[in-house]
Amino acid sequence: MALRKIHTMEHPALRRKAKKVSRFDAYIERLVNDMWETMRAAPGVGLAAPQIGESIRVLVAEYEDEHVALVNPEILKKSDEILLGTEGCLSIPGVVGDDVPRAASVVVKARDPKGKEIRVKAEGWFARVLQHEIDHLDGILFIDHIPPDKVRDVEPDEIIEEAEVEKTTARRSKDGKNGTSATAEHHERPATIAKPAKPVTAAKAAGGAS
Ligand SMILES: [Zn+2]
Repeated sequence: MALRKIHTMEHPALRRKAKKVSRFDAYIERLVNDMWETMRAAPGVGLAAPQIGESIRVLVAEYEDEHVALVNPEILKKSDEILLGTEGCLSIPGVVGDDVPRAASVVVKARDPKGKEIRVKAEGWFARVLQHEIDHLDGILFIDHIPPDKVRDVEPDEIIEEAEVEKTTARRSKDGKNGTSATAEHHERPATIAKPAKPVTAAKAAGGAS
């Protein structure tokens, strides 16, 4: 595995529609492993291949016990409920955006890095992360969803606090309870999870709507 350079928004790959993957080979597996390592070192909760200059439809995302590596992801279903939240992006360092609207839950169809079809159901913060990363595959950034006055400068420490706020909000709206406080432990886990293991509630949530 290797750490890859995370490009900022001036890089053309960040504004391009990324290509679908048609061959599930060692190249893709290596890329996904590099993306896990790069994301966790940043640290971040999600990373899309265009952010490391690869204009193909691959993303990794990890939050609490959910972690997925998705190839050619497509959103099958979006809730009507929209949550507003604060987002940052590894490709737009130093700022966050407030009140970024995202569907409260999504069902995503994708392939895993070996080419097997999978479905992922996500809610709250994890749904937000997936929508943010899938946007990257279409050249869309969170700043495109909000007016310029919602974008503000932050210190790196503050970005983590913002994530806590969002998480609490998402939890509260989901089950009426406060979330636990966020920790930055994502990058401390063993960094070799290339397959979407248990968080993928395969097929369970998706009734085949497309
Ligand atoms: Zn991003």
